Amino acid sequence: MRKEISAALGLASLLVVSATAGPQKPAPGAPATAKMAVNPKVDALKKEAMADVDTRREFTQQMIDQIFSYGELGFQEFETSKYITGILEKNGFKVQTGLSGIPTAWMATWGAGKPVIAIGSDIDGIPQASQKPGVGYHDPMIEGAPGHGEGHNSGQAVNITAVLAVKKIMEREHLSGTIKIWPGVAEELVGSKAWFIRDGYFKDVDIAIFSHVDSNFSPQEWGDDSGNGLVSIQYDFKGESAHAAGAPWRGRSALDAVELMDVGWNFRREHLRLQQRSHYVIPNGGDQPNVVPQNASVWYYFRENDYDHIKELWDIGNTMAKAASMMTNTEVTWKILGTAWPKHMSRTLSEDMEENIKAVGLPQWSDADQTLARGIQHELKAKEEGLAGTLAPLRGPIPEEQRRGGGSDDIGDISWNVPTVSLRFPSNIPGLPGHNWANAISMATPIAHKGATAGAKAQAMTMLDILLRPEVVSGAWDYFKNVQTKDRHYIPFITEKDPPATWLNKATLEKFRPEMKKFYYDPTRYKTYLEQLGIKYPTVRGATATAGDRQ
Ligand SMILES: [Zn+2]
Repeated sequence: MRKEISAALGLASLLVVSATAGPQKPAPGAPATAKMAVNPKVDALKKEAMADVDTRREFTQQMIDQIFSYGELGFQEFETSKYITGILEKNGFKVQTGLSGIPTAWMATWGAGKPVIAIGSDIDGIPQASQKPGVGYHDPMIEGAPGHGEGHNSGQAVNITAVLAVKKIMEREHLSGTIKIWPGVAEELVGSKAWFIRDGYFKDVDIAIFSHVDSNFSPQEWGDDSGNGLVSIQYDFKGESAHAAGAPWRGRSALDAVELMDVGWNFRREHLRLQQRSHYVIPNGGDQPNVVPQNASVWYYFRENDYDHIKELWDIGNTMAKAASMMTNTEVTWKILGTAWPKHMSRTLSEDMEENIKAVGLPQWSDADQTLARGIQHELKAKEEGLAGTLAPLRGPIPEEQRRGGGSDDIGDISWNVPTVSLRFPSNIPGLPGHNWANAISMATPIAHKGATAGAKAQAMTMLDILLRPEVVSGAWDYFKNVQTKDRHYIPFITEKDPPATWLNKATLEKFRPEMKKFYYDPTRYKTYLEQLGIKYPTVRGATATAGDRQ
């Protein structure tokens, strides 16, 4: 596998050279944009779509604010999914629910014929990330409650705004094409997309388009990227309870097994590749100290650069779990709760999208937007750079020796089955920690709204390229077949039988939902969520605290 990867990378870097070298026949996966002739009709339709997206600003803003106010965690996105599918049904989409047996998963379809475009974005939040929007310091709406500390409340608004603009053009121009809209359910648990692939929901899809919040505006990267893939595994140990003081010799502690496994892993960590990232939590450590714990569980994320290395880490984890069970005379079983392949985005599609992003450009930030950004950057002792001022360039593949791991997204599984491109749109603030309350503060403010409108324009333009320029679809498949999957093939980490972990986060939402309901956004009464909450925009503390315009 290692060899195959460097061979593929070698080919990819050769392509960079040949694509810029001159007029010879383009190599597989060479940029579609370079081959595309000037097409005034497509350009005119793109201009129309951009103007149309601008007229939908209020719709985009309401969707973002509404989903922000739901703040639901993975597998519990009931309000969110009901709300989004309601909008789609009203707009003529046919909605299939319960995908892969996941109650909050759905696919909405409209149109007929080829190409089939599947456009998706994640919808789940982060535990304990509740935060008042527009406030530049930690100020939870509800202490301990979940919230959109990743910004997943914005991507569906980007996609649906774009789709509605494109649909209007398709209807008038009688364009062939099928649009499927779908949610990344439980992305923070990498819990759904591999199941969607396994169960065939992307079988007939020609192109997948994804969107994800960012602090800049770019398709980010094509080819092997800086992120990792992962498996998420829970180890359940079973022992025997006993009176912890009266007869401890009769007990067998499942918690001892968990702790021994963790100690073993933390020693082994030093002798693993630098690319790996592994982390765990203990969801069950027993009931109370005077009862020897008969059940205990530890939940690991094992991350690495490629399939073989992820598998290797997982095997080490299994060995340690078995060893810990032998040391403690307990039993162990494990189950897979989530999985993500490392991402690999299409070169053809990414380069096309980048051209569209350049035509849109970054939003015009107001003084109030900049004040909020600098306020939180000051608060977190990050570089006080404000909001993005120049477009981030599209990156090509990262050489294997420079890939040092990072986050994951199960869009990776889709990207290895269908040519995929991912739009990063500028609705967040640079320099924040991620998976944190701080990443929520911009997410129901003009920063998120403007970033999503810009994102929807680029998304609509890219859809028009896919619908109207057959060379974009054929170029994407050429790259997919002859470069990306030439030597590497998708092998799922899940079996036919592994169920999605739909029970996760249920108890947390049951606990917090009654209180969270009081803060659901009501667009019939308030223009924005900030207005409903009575938050002065921006609210920051310290020297940077100047009142900006209220929006
Ligand atoms: Zn995310």
